[in-house]
Parts: sequence; C-alpha cells; structure tokens
Amino acid sequence: MYYIDVILPIPLKQKFTYKVNKDEAAFLRQGMRVAVPFGKSKVYTAIVYQVHQTAPSGYETKEIDQILDKYPIVTQSQIKHWQWIAAYYMCTLGEVIRAALPSAFLLESETIISLSKNDVSEDTLSDEEFLVFEALQHQSSIHINDVRSVLDRKNVVAVLEKLLQKNIIHVQEEVFEQYKPKLKRYVKIASKYASEENLRDLLDQLSKRAHKQREVLMNLFMLTAQSNKPISVKQLTKKSDTSSAVIKSLVEKEILEEYFIKKDRVEYSGDEASDIKTLNEAQQVAFSEIKESFKTKDVTLLHGVTSSGKTEIYVRLISEILKTGKQVLYMLPEIALTTQLIARLQHYFGSKVSVYHSKYSVNERVEVWNNVLHSKPKAQIIIGARSSMFLPFQNLGLILVDEEHEPSFKQYNPAPRYHARDAAVVLASIHNAKTLMGSATPSLESYFNASQGKYGLVTLKTRYGNVLMPEIELVDIKEKSRKKRMKGHFSDRLLEEMQEVLELGEQIILFQNRRGFSPIVECTTCGTSPQCPNCDVSLTYHQYKNELRCHYCGYHMAMQLSCMACGSETLDTKGFGTEQIETELKALFPKHSIARMDQDTTRGKNAYAKLIAKLENEEIDILVGTQMLAKGLDFRNISLVGVMNADNLLNFPDFRAHERSFQLLQQVSGRAGRTSKRGKVLIQTYNPYHQILQQVSTNDYSGMYDQQLEERYQYKYPPYYRTIKITCKDRNLQKMQKAAKWFGQALENKLGEQVLGPEPPPVGRIRNMYISNILIKIPKKQSLEHTKKYINRVEQSFNAIKEFSSVRLLIDVDNY
Ligand code: ADP
Ligand code: ZN
Ligand code: ZN
Repeated sequence: MYYIDVILPIPLKQKFTYKVNKDEAAFLRQGMRVAVPFGKSKVYTAIVYQVHQTAPSGYETKEIDQILDKYPIVTQSQIKHWQWIAAYYMCTLGEVIRAALPSAFLLESETIISLSKNDVSEDTLSDEEFLVFEALQHQSSIHINDVRSVLDRKNVVAVLEKLLQKNIIHVQEEVFEQYKPKLKRYVKIASKYASEENLRDLLDQLSKRAHKQREVLMNLFMLTAQSNKPISVKQLTKKSDTSSAVIKSLVEKEILEEYFIKKDRVEYSGDEASDIKTLNEAQQVAFSEIKESFKTKDVTLLHGVTSSGKTEIYVRLISEILKTGKQVLYMLPEIALTTQLIARLQHYFGSKVSVYHSKYSVNERVEVWNNVLHSKPKAQIIIGARSSMFLPFQNLGLILVDEEHEPSFKQYNPAPRYHARDAAVVLASIHNAKTLMGSATPSLESYFNASQGKYGLVTLKTRYGNVLMPEIELVDIKEKSRKKRMKGHFSDRLLEEMQEVLELGEQIILFQNRRGFSPIVECTTCGTSPQCPNCDVSLTYHQYKNELRCHYCGYHMAMQLSCMACGSETLDTKGFGTEQIETELKALFPKHSIARMDQDTTRGKNAYAKLIAKLENEEIDILVGTQMLAKGLDFRNISLVGVMNADNLLNFPDFRAHERSFQLLQQVSGRAGRTSKRGKVLIQTYNPYHQILQQVSTNDYSGMYDQQLEERYQYKYPPYYRTIKITCKDRNLQKMQKAAKWFGQALENKLGEQVLGPEPPPVGRIRNMYISNILIKIPKKQSLEHTKKYINRVEQSFNAIKEFSSVRLLIDVDNY
C-alpha cells in the first residue's frame, strides 16, 4: 500500500494521510497539489509532504480525488521556511500555507467560482469545460459541489484548474481595492542598433523575411526623428497600422526595448534613463562597507538619515546580484504607498521587476508565482509587501528590507502572526543569501542586534547633495493658547511659516495622526459621548458625511442633533482630526489648493497614486494627512512640514509608543527640504520638554536609543526579553473573563511572575467580542522552545474544557 502525507490549508496540528496507488506514488513529489476529500462532503486542495508506505493508526485513510500538478509548485526551501514560521509563531503549517499560496491554488468546497469573461469561443473548451462555462451563464457564481452535479462526477478540481489557467473563470475573494501602478509602455530601438549603419543592416535583413516588422521599425525611426518624446506602444501600433503582436516579436528578438513610465508623469530623460546614478563619496563608502560586512555577516543594517540616498545604494547592490543570475527580493512595508519607488526601480531594471502583493488579483499573483518558480527573467527582482516572502524562489541572492522599522511588517490577524523582517532573515539563510535592512530610524531590536555584532552596521550620516537636515522647532501650544495666539489648531508660528512658504510658491505637508473631524462628541450637559454599539469606543465625527463612525468596526450613524442620554441640544466636539484641519485650512488660505490624505480619501482605485502625482506636479499647495505621509515619499518642493499635535502619539499606551513617535516624527520631518534649500519642521505640542521631542528636534537617534533601551531593560521588554501575547475573545463577558483567568493561572503555575494579566486592552470590546490579554515576558536565557511547549500544553488542556469551547485564543509571538 502507498500513502501520502499532505498539508491541508486548515488549522490542523497534524499532517493528514491519504491512500494512493502505485503509479501515483511514483509520480507524486513533495510540493505538488492534490485535491482530497475531507470530512463528510468537503474538498480541499492539499500540498504533498511525503510519499510512504506506513499506514496511519487511528483512522481509515481515504483516497485522493485528483493530482493537480505535473511538477511541484512549492519548493523544498519553502516548506522548510514555512515549518520554521509555524514553529516560531506557534501556528499550524496549514495556516501558513493559506497565507502563502494565492487562493487560486487552493480551490476547495467553499470557494466561490464566477466567470471572468463572457466571450469565449466554444471550440477552445473541452466538453466538460464547456458545461461549467454554460452553467455559469445561468448562475453568477457556483461552488465545487454544483460543478460536481453539473459534470455528474466527483473529481472536478482539475477541470476548474484548466478554466482558471485559461482565464475563463476566477475565484472570488474578499473584495480588496485593487491597486495597479499606472504605467504606460514605451518602446525604443535597442542600443546595439543605434548607429545608422547597424540599423540599415537590420532593415535589409528584415525586408527579406519580415515585411511588417520592417515597417514598424521605419515608423518608430520616423516618429523618434520628429520629436524627442517617448514613443508609446499604442502610438506605434496605430501609426504602423499593425498589431501589438508584431511589436512583441520585435521585443522578443531584442530589436526593440520596452520601458515603462508612470502614466501621469511623462517626462523623458533620454537614453540615460536606465543608467544607474553614480554614487557620491559617502554612498560609495557605505556601499563598500556593506559588501565588506557581507563577507562575515549574513545580515547588515544600513542606518542612513532620510534622503541620504539609500535607494541608490540598493540599486547598485541589486545590479551586482543580478549579474550573478540570482533573484532579489525587495520588501516594503506597504505596496500601495510606494508607487514612486516601483516606478524608480522599473526605470532602472525595466522588465526584470515584478510586483507582488496580496491586493493584486489572484491571476496576477499566480502569474508572478510561476515566473519566480521558473526563474523567469521578468521575475529577477520582486518588489512586495510582507507576503512576497512566500514566493517560490529558486536562487535568492539578496533580500532588502526597506524601512525595516515599520510596524506593518508584522501580521496581526489571522495567523500566522509573523514579522516579515525577521522571517526574511530566516528565508535568506535557507538560500545562503544576504539580508540588508535599511532605515533612517531603525527599530530598537535591529539596532540592538547590530550593536551586539549579530548584524553588521553601516551608517550614512549626510543627505545626498549635502542638503542639510531640516531645522526642527518645537512650538508650545499650551503657552500659545494662554496668550491667545492660536487660530483654531494653528499657532501663530505655524501660520507665519506657512505664509512665507506659500508666498515663495513652495509646498507644505501637515501631519495629524487622526482621521475624521473630531474623535469625540460630548454632551456638555450630562457628559455622555455617543458610543459604538459593537465596540467599547466613542464614535468619531465625520463632518463631510455628517456622520458618526466607529474606526474599529465601521459602524456609522447620522450625527445626532441632541444628546441620546439626556436629550439636551448641547453636543460639542472635542479633539480634532485631519478633516477638521482641512476645513480650517480652507478658511485660512482660501486662495490655495488644499488636499487631504488619509484612509477616507484614498479608498478608491488609484486615489493614492493620484494624490501623489498631484503633489509632484505641484497642483497641491498644502497636503494634510495621517501617517501615510511618513512613508518614504520623495518630493522636490516641500519646504515646510507641520505636526499639528505630537502629544497623542506620545501618550499611546504601548511600550513601543515612544520609539514609534520618534520614528514617525523623524520620518515625517524627513519629507521637508530634500533639495538644495534647508527644510523647516514645526512640531506643535503641549509638552515641548518631553525627552522624545527633544531628541527628535536634535536628530538624536542614539540618545533616543540609549534611553529607550534603558527603559526596556528596566521594565523587561524586548530586546532584553521576548514577549508572547495571548488573547482571549468571546461574546460573553463573564465567560471570557473566566477563561482568561483560567489560562493566566495555568501559565503562572510554571512561569510565575513572567505572566502579566489577564487585562483588557484600551478598547476592551471590538465587534461585540470582549477581549483580554495575557503577556508573557521571557528572559533571553530561558529556552523559548520549552516555554512554547508549555504554552501548548496549557492550550491543549484549555481546549478540552467544554465550557470554554466558544472562546477564541490568539497567540502572538514577539507581539506588536
Ligand atoms: P533615502 O532612500 O535615503 O531617503 P533616496 O535614495 O530617496 O534617499 O535619495 C534622495 C534623493 O537624492 C532622490 O531624489 C535621489 O534620486 C537623489 N539621489 C540619491 N543618490 C543620488 C546619486 N548618487 N546621484 C543623483 N541623485 C541621487
Ligand atoms: Zn446629555
Ligand atoms: Zn465599532
């Protein structure tokens, strides 16, 4: 008898065993997919782990439904990496697989299938494919079980796979906003035919065999001669009255070269466009130091101030790695926020760059997956957010983790709750590759690792072009209010500086970390604030829609005219958000163009990219926004950055709040004055003597680092201790409290004072689930493995208690 162990994409602790026949056993290898029955009537797509001949004890094995792949689509290195993730982050391999594979690879009974196009010529379909296609003409979506009855047989996953590959159907997923960098395709004659002589030879050759291609070339030549503008593929096909296939074949023959330019910024910089910039001396030194460091260290941290030209150094490293034929993974905290960078890399490396992101459509993701798996030229460089590290790399040479301090590298929900920066280091080591982390404000953890010699450290202290770091001024708004020098939320200092900048025709960024108009509405008679019915938070007032909204669950209702508690018409608003700032700005600067960037204004397709383009084209004078503004944007003409209120950042109840405030304020400040003129930053605060603000205003990273490290040591936090957070959730408050208490007690039996809580978080109920947290602080010298094993044992006993069966447990290792 032959068996296979498979990994199912569900939270099962164990692998599951199925029966296969001799031929199947000979054919199957680790990393191939099989469709398997599960439970009474379910179908899952599973990944083969191993083939063997030992019958499992305890259950009757079923046969597999179908084999779905001809070769493994998951590599052995991936399985190794995923096993590490599952073990380290205390989840199951199945959960990792669900996060790792595009959903189109994981068809299952729950999958909803719908048609992606209607005009399909029937002769391209097999009989069975046609039946499914036809069924979908009558019904907008179907499930696997429907397909089973349509085809009158059980094994249908392979048919669906075929239809997916042909792009006729697609699987529905949560509707994400689909982000697409708006890029336009251009072509030029390859540089080897640049001389007139070579071109003539080429035309002669083509005239014999490829008449159409010759004509395209002639047209391109003429168009280029007429104007020195880039020629788009569309323009060329039209002019030559031909199909894009002809152009494609010319590109494949390397007679034409394609390149891409962001559509909303047509600016031609000639052939030099793809030439990599020469590094200045400081960059050159840093570059050599990185390479030197890589001789002895697998991970190196590049600490370079904002606008020091880190990206250009990455570009040099990338091009060196590419020469060795290896793949490069470039990880960013959030893809949607980095249209600029993608354009920059595509500009240098053209079609070698692929972008991978969980918000891309499934089909696009499958395509990138396959390109990476087969080491295709167009997947030499992968840019992506955290999920990009799940791709099937064959020969990874380098991982770049840009803005490594960003919290969004950590996945919160669902499991695996992994930190992509840390998991990337493990991935690199599996491939014998190097990791370079970059930041102007490194996380304490990474800087600590570097100072301990675990990572290499390279520092870049000057901005490119010797632009000075911006001048940072703290404005005491307590004092200003007392002296009546505030207009709304603007101090006279801020208004003065703004006036000056606007007169010079330069641009301003204003930062306020809350969206909406007012975070709190309060009745001045009885003191009641409207609360979310599902969460323990007050609703935020949004003026534009005249609505009260919950920022945790999305609940909203019309703004109330009178207090719901006492009925008085004495509702007042407290605190302020981006929307209110925008409103005030419009009154203060009626002649200037003002825009807002936050979650509310960047919802639509490309809305973010549009705002960026507008700012770049200087169609916006003042941009007000949330932390979205802090992320690696590079603008030429911003000379003033204003922080409306630094205090609510600093007062956030989290042990990383001070570190984060420093990072955020430094990053926002870094948007000012990136060209010749020195930029200015004004930070409004009630507490100008706060250590962190002092450190921000003097660019004192090392002062901040030393002080925060001291506090982490005192209060037993990372990097000195490891933390594991356990969250209990239930709809019933009493039950949740009882369960959390039980769990905390059980942990304490062995771990004693290392266990803190259970304690409700600041928002103790979200979406009607009551929440309580237990935090475990593990000293570095204590075995993490043993501690986790103990937690697992407690979890097992917990799961056996019937009373707690509805309580959800979430385990978060190295929690953020
Ligand atoms: P960082 O990533 O450190 O914030 P960037 O790489 O974005 O800095 O560089 C800041 C600006 O300086 C960019 O506009 C970039 O094009 C420019 N720049 C950096 N290095 C060079 C160089 N060697 N030659 C020309 N321009 C450069
Ligand atoms: Zn009231
Ligand atoms: Zn809510």
